[in-house]
Amino acid sequence: LTYCKKLPKVELHAHLNGSLSDGTVLQLLEAKEKELGSTDSLSSFKMTISKGPERCLRECFRVFEALHSLTDSQEAIRKITKNVIQEFAEDGVRYLELRTTPKNIPGKITKKEYVDAVLETMINEMKTCRIMVRLLVSVDRGRGVGDAWSTLSLAKQYLDHDVFKGLLVGIDVSGNPNKGNLIDYIPILKEAKKCGFKLAVHLAEVKSCVEETDAVLENGLVDRIGHGTYLLKNNGYGIKYQKKILKNFIPIEICMSSNLKTQSVRSFEKHHFGVWSGLKHPLAICTDDKGVYCTTLTNEYYICAKNFNLSEQDLHELCLYAVEAAFLPSSEKDILRQMVKEELSKLM
Ligand code: IMP
Repeated sequence: LTYCKKLPKVELHAHLNGSLSDGTVLQLLEAKEKELGSTDSLSSFKMTISKGPERCLRECFRVFEALHSLTDSQEAIRKITKNVIQEFAEDGVRYLELRTTPKNIPGKITKKEYVDAVLETMINEMKTCRIMVRLLVSVDRGRGVGDAWSTLSLAKQYLDHDVFKGLLVGIDVSGNPNKGNLIDYIPILKEAKKCGFKLAVHLAEVKSCVEETDAVLENGLVDRIGHGTYLLKNNGYGIKYQKKILKNFIPIEICMSSNLKTQSVRSFEKHHFGVWSGLKHPLAICTDDKGVYCTTLTNEYYICAKNFNLSEQDLHELCLYAVEAAFLPSSEKDILRQMVKEELSKLM
């Protein structure tokens, strides 16, 4: 664990609201209680999040909804972004791609105010923490196609922004995989690619995603795959997916604790990490939602090392794979690669 802590790590799959530590949630609760007094919804919120670490995927989405009820102002968004960046920096993360769904909450916050608050905080924290941060805006497949188009048109405004240019590097597609169908989102993904955004898509997270996974891969719309839990299952599609993903070197974001805690994999040893890493396929070890799943990136590296018998050299390779999978322009990626290599060489 100590060695994994020292690794110069790159985190590519971290949902902002899912990354809130208990300390941050407590601060937000206190602020809400001051604003509203003790209400029924705050009490039921405490019940929802106190259920413990073992929750199925559906239950986790109730936790996200509860968390969203606390992060409904620019002040709250600044606080959570700051805390999350600082926590990743303390964990030895040198480059962080944070992702979040811009929310429009009438009378409280607009999507633009939401994204502005995240980006402003990122800039401030990069001045004081030893970390480089970039943003992916998330399209939540459960919020419908109209919401996704509005998120994309907002994202476009940041491409040539005076202050924030270069900080918003891609689009993530996430949300409850049992809601909506990714096929409906394909025109949006095509448009996003045309605008120059990189795309990270949660794919094959549940068993029933065969057709949409096929459609997204057929259209060559994905630059990184989130989870990919059911890509290898013996459903007749597995082999086709595998060949395509291997041929195109599409990196897969691996979130071990998340997959185990949501019961989408049976055990760490049976996790698809084993198959893909055996094939030397590019992978990025990630936390997904470090708050909800009570983990850190250090811990995720440790879980991989322990369950798959990884050497120090293997861990170094994983750090470097993650650098290559980052959605950075090549000049910035060169700087990051150099920095990570230098730090790794000092560990040898
Ligand atoms: P936010 O986008 O910052 O609000 O982070 C929480 C959101 O991330 C959730 O409401 C989901 O839309 C998304 N999310 C977090 N974890 C997962 C996951 O494992 N699968 C799909 N979506 C997820």
